Amino acid sequence: MTRQAIPIGRIYGIPVGLDYSWFLVFALFTWMLAGSYFPAEFKGWPAWLYWVTGAATTILFFASVLLHELGHSVVALRYKIPVRSITLFIFGGVAQIASEPPSAVSEFFIALAGPAVSFALAGLFAVLKPAVAGVEPLFGMAKYLAYINFALAFFNLIPGFPLDGGRVFRAAVWAVTGNLRRATITAANVGRFFGFLFILVGAWQVLVGNFVGGLWIAFIGWFLDGSASAQIQQTAFQGALSGHTVAQAMSTSCPAVPVDLTLQQLVDDHILSSGRRCFLVNRGSETLGLMTVHRIREVGREHWAGTTAAQVMLPLASLKSLGPDTDLWNALQLMDRDGVNQLPVVTDHRVVGMLSREDVITYLSTVRELGA
Ligand SMILES: [Zn+2]
Repeated sequence: MTRQAIPIGRIYGIPVGLDYSWFLVFALFTWMLAGSYFPAEFKGWPAWLYWVTGAATTILFFASVLLHELGHSVVALRYKIPVRSITLFIFGGVAQIASEPPSAVSEFFIALAGPAVSFALAGLFAVLKPAVAGVEPLFGMAKYLAYINFALAFFNLIPGFPLDGGRVFRAAVWAVTGNLRRATITAANVGRFFGFLFILVGAWQVLVGNFVGGLWIAFIGWFLDGSASAQIQQTAFQGALSGHTVAQAMSTSCPAVPVDLTLQQLVDDHILSSGRRCFLVNRGSETLGLMTVHRIREVGREHWAGTTAAQVMLPLASLKSLGPDTDLWNALQLMDRDGVNQLPVVTDHRVVGMLSREDVITYLSTVRELGA
């Protein structure tokens, strides 16, 4: 969910949003409830009542999904792990929890909190059911919400990562082996297995005539397999980087240019002749900032002759920097968090190199090639 969601508010300081795909699932759900589920369960309502009840039930269902995600989030916050956002989308909800959990125990409780909320909601609606038995639409809503929350909790407890049950399973493997990476890959492979299983079951359902339901199951399986595969790749990448430091991958040949150089001189004499895209801006031997092609492009070409490097550079003081001993994986995460493609490597207030994403990829492929 990297797309921009439509913000609908904040709970516990966590921004809650709707992905555009949510509107599709809202319409589908309402249509399914009003068009077939409620008419089959309750005869003789006026048409508008089926639709109002269908829409209200769908909204309460997604409110339940939101509470499920809040369950995960509140426990994560208790472990001091920041929660960036909660987004409702076509397959339900997702809480963006900022980092990997600090321990197997915290992972276990964060993962269980969501299904626990769903089970509690299922119980609540089941208890409400007899109280509203005299009002058919309310009774229908309570009955369906009790069922769907139970199904939601049950589905999420399937032990394949990234489902909640998969996280519980990962926490268990992590606790036993002490190895988070191996635990993640094991749990994600189980997730892929369930993804395939869902695709098969969905295809079979389509063949026996349950077209919409089968397609939906297959679609969920495909999504599950995709998320689990992405997790396996990311974990393998992280594994390949572990034990390697910034100093090993950084480029040290970042040329320095004087602070009073004009952009025109920089482009003509340095960039076009060397093809380099990043420069240190120095006064004497002291580095004051960084200059990138991107910064130059933000200045109109007609102003290049009258603008100095000092005026456009990224001042070093405003930039995050890396130490040469920083773990490469942590360095990449830092770039992700700040949304930058390169960071200066600094020791004793001196820039000793630059690390870009490209440097990391190049380094990794060299390591692979040498089989080191
Ligand atoms: Zn969950």
